[in-house]
Amino acid sequence: MLTAITGVNWGDEGKGRMVDLLSRDYDIVARYQGGNNAGHTVKNERGKFVLNLLPSGILRPNVVCVMGGGMVIDPAHLEKEIAALREKGVQISPANLKISDRATVCMPWHVAEDGLEEDRLSATGSQFGSTRRGIAYAYGDKYMKKTLRMGDLVHLDEGRKRHLATIVEWKNLTLERVYGAKPIDLEEAWAWCQKYGELFREYICDAGAYLAEADDAGKKIMFEAQLGALRDIDFGIYPYTSSSNVIGAYAPIGAGLPGHKLDKSIGIMKAYSSCVGEGPFTAERAMTEEDKHLLREAGHEYGAATGRPRRVGPFDVVASRYGANCQGADELALTLLDVLDYMEQVPVVEKYLVDGVETDRFPMGTALDNAQPVVKILPGWHCDISGCRRWEELPEAAKDYVRYIEKAVGRPIRYISVGPDRDACILKDGE
Ligand code: GDP
Ligand code: MG
Repeated sequence: MLTAITGVNWGDEGKGRMVDLLSRDYDIVARYQGGNNAGHTVKNERGKFVLNLLPSGILRPNVVCVMGGGMVIDPAHLEKEIAALREKGVQISPANLKISDRATVCMPWHVAEDGLEEDRLSATGSQFGSTRRGIAYAYGDKYMKKTLRMGDLVHLDEGRKRHLATIVEWKNLTLERVYGAKPIDLEEAWAWCQKYGELFREYICDAGAYLAEADDAGKKIMFEAQLGALRDIDFGIYPYTSSSNVIGAYAPIGAGLPGHKLDKSIGIMKAYSSCVGEGPFTAERAMTEEDKHLLREAGHEYGAATGRPRRVGPFDVVASRYGANCQGADELALTLLDVLDYMEQVPVVEKYLVDGVETDRFPMGTALDNAQPVVKILPGWHCDISGCRRWEELPEAAKDYVRYIEKAVGRPIRYISVGPDRDACILKDGE
C-alpha cells in the first residue's frame, strides 16, 4: 500500500502535521525530494519539533523513516537535526532511519554559492528569496553530474577522489573568478567526505531495495512531500519554484520505487493562502495590508526554516484546484481552518481576471503576473472551533465554507485540521 502525502498550495500547508497524524497507520515514511530548505512543524505529546530533512514519521517509534534518492542531503545539517531530536528523547538509529545511497550530497560549496549569488542579487534588489541552503546548486550539479551521492561517501576510493578533484577544480573557477571568494581546498573537502561517510555509514543503504522488500511483505508505506504543487520545478510558478519535482507522481521515483504505482494521493490544502519568498501570488491582491497583517498574526505565518514573514491571502480556488489536479489527489485534508475563526466574513479568490477576461484556469507567465483576483465573500463563523473533533460540532457557516471549497476544488475533503496538535483533526466521512 503506497500513499503520497503532498501539498496542494505553495508549501506550509501542514504536511508535517498530517504525516505525524496519519503515519499511525503506516510502517514506513519516506521523504522523496528536497533538502533542508523546508520546515515542517509537528506538535504532539512529545513536544514541538521542526523537521528540515528527516521525515515527519521519525516521531513515531514504530515507524521506519527513509530519506529517498530524490532528496538532496547536507550531512552537516542532518547531524545537527538528529542531535537536536535526540536531546528531546527521540531515538534515531540505523534501525529506524535509512538514507538512500542515491541521494545527492549538498556539499559545503553549494551552500556558499547560494549565499554568494543571493548577496550579489540583493545588491541590485533582485534577490530570488532563496533559503541560502544550497539546494538549487546541489540539484543543478546533480544534473551536471558534478557532485557526489550519499553512497559515494562510504566508498571513498582513489577513483572518487579523482572525481572530487575535478569537481573542486571546476568549482574553484567560479568561486574565485566570478565571486572573488575563497577557493575550496581538496584535502579539506576529502576530509569532510570521510567524516560524514563514517558518521552515516550504518544508515546509508540501498533504500529502494529496502522499500521494495517491505512492499512485497505487505508493509504500508507513506511518501512525504516537502513542498506544495505550485513549487514543483515543472508544474509550479517557475522560476519561483523548488528545484525538484514535488508532485505525488514523482513520489515512488524519488523514494526509490520507480516501477511502483501510488495507491492513494492525499493532498494537504490550507484553508487560506500563504507563500514564502518571491514570485506571483494573486491571492495577496485580494486583501488590504491591514487584513493581511491580521491573518498573518492569526496563523503565525513566519517560516519554520527561516523565520521570514510569509505572504498571505484568502483561499485561492483557481490555484488550489490546479494544485489538487497536479497531485491527482484522491482526497484532501483542509488545514488551519481554525485560523479563520476571527473573521466575520471570509473572502475567497473564486476566479482570476486575466486581460479583462474571467478565468478559472491557472495561467502561466505574464498572464499569472498580471492576474487580478475575483473575490467572493462567504459568511464567517466567528467563534472558536479549535475544540471541535467531529463534523457535527462545527458551526454551520464553517461547514458551508468547507462544502464550498470541496465543490469548487472538485475533490473530497476527508480531514479538517483545527489546530497544530496531533489530535486536533476532524474526520469528515461523507455527509
Ligand atoms: P509544512 O511545511 O506543510 O509541514 O507546514 P509548516 O509546518 O511549515 O507550517 C504549518 C504550521 O501550521 C505549523 O506551525 C503547524 O504547527 C501549524 N498547523 C498545522 N495545522 C494546523 C491547524 O490546523 N491549525 C493551526 N492553528 N495550526 C496548524
Ligand atoms: Mg513548511
